[in-house]
Amino acid sequence: MDLKQASKQLEQVRNQSLAYTNKGSVASYIPELAKVNSHQLGVAVCLPDGTILSTGDADVPFSMQSISKIFSLIVALCQNGKEYVFRHVGKEPTGDPFNSIIKLETTESHKPLNPMINAGAIAVAGMIRGANVDERLDAVMALMRKMTGNPHLSINQAVYCSEKKTADRNRALAWFLKDSGILETDVEETLDLYFRHCSIEVTAKEVATLGMVLAADGILVNTGERVIPEEVARICKTFMVTCGMYNASGEFAIDVGIPAKSGVAGGIMATVPQRMGIGVFGPSLDEKGNSVAGVKLLELLSKEWKLGIF
Ligand code: GLN
Repeated sequence: MDLKQASKQLEQVRNQSLAYTNKGSVASYIPELAKVNSHQLGVAVCLPDGTILSTGDADVPFSMQSISKIFSLIVALCQNGKEYVFRHVGKEPTGDPFNSIIKLETTESHKPLNPMINAGAIAVAGMIRGANVDERLDAVMALMRKMTGNPHLSINQAVYCSEKKTADRNRALAWFLKDSGILETDVEETLDLYFRHCSIEVTAKEVATLGMVLAADGILVNTGERVIPEEVARICKTFMVTCGMYNASGEFAIDVGIPAKSGVAGGIMATVPQRMGIGVFGPSLDEKGNSVAGVKLLELLSKEWKLGIF
């Protein structure tokens, strides 16, 4: 890859997508997220040798929100094994919004359909072990600090408190899961862990680095150290394809064709097997909760660099 040319193309694609920040709106159901400037757009690409290309608002910190569901899943799988995890959460996509409650009652044994929707991610948070919430969060933070190489990674307290105060829907999901026996740990503690891991603050550059580790099947680019078992990395990438963009995952697979996971703060982590990790930040969302400009940018970049995996 000619880095100079690639940087230029990245900038062009970002500029072409910038107008899309006028479409959609920032998430407001978490009041703190509504304060963010909706016209930001940043993108970063991390290559297999650790080189990072970036343009726009790639150093602006934002909370991971649903992108963090990948990392809580990794920890839950490593601590419990896949048989245990998939006894409590399914592997199938849903056509419903990410915070939907409707299928919990109608699905066999009330298992959430997958770990990328809120119900599934709350069930996954319930499986993360530790003596208390701090220790359980540390397991997720330690993994992410290792993957990003940033020992100072931390949570955004304002976003965390804002979500905790307003999360009635997530509370409803968690209590339903508790009643069904899917959630075996304390409800409020598990929700606290979930809100905290959703509030972990990152930049598009860090998200690109995280995506690159998954692209390399769980190996750190700089040191060659394995931080995620290969099978766990494979499971995550598969969920990113089938469920990562919520109920727009099918459309995204056709238009962009890259495993990706989005969050309601406007971040998207994309991972192109063996080739690169991509981090995008554009806080204005479509009605399904995906960054409008971010999705457009990835679509254009995928075409330009022929990144589609299908
Ligand atoms: N913390 C958010 C919530 O539970 C995450 C949702 C998302 O990013 N889609 O609602």
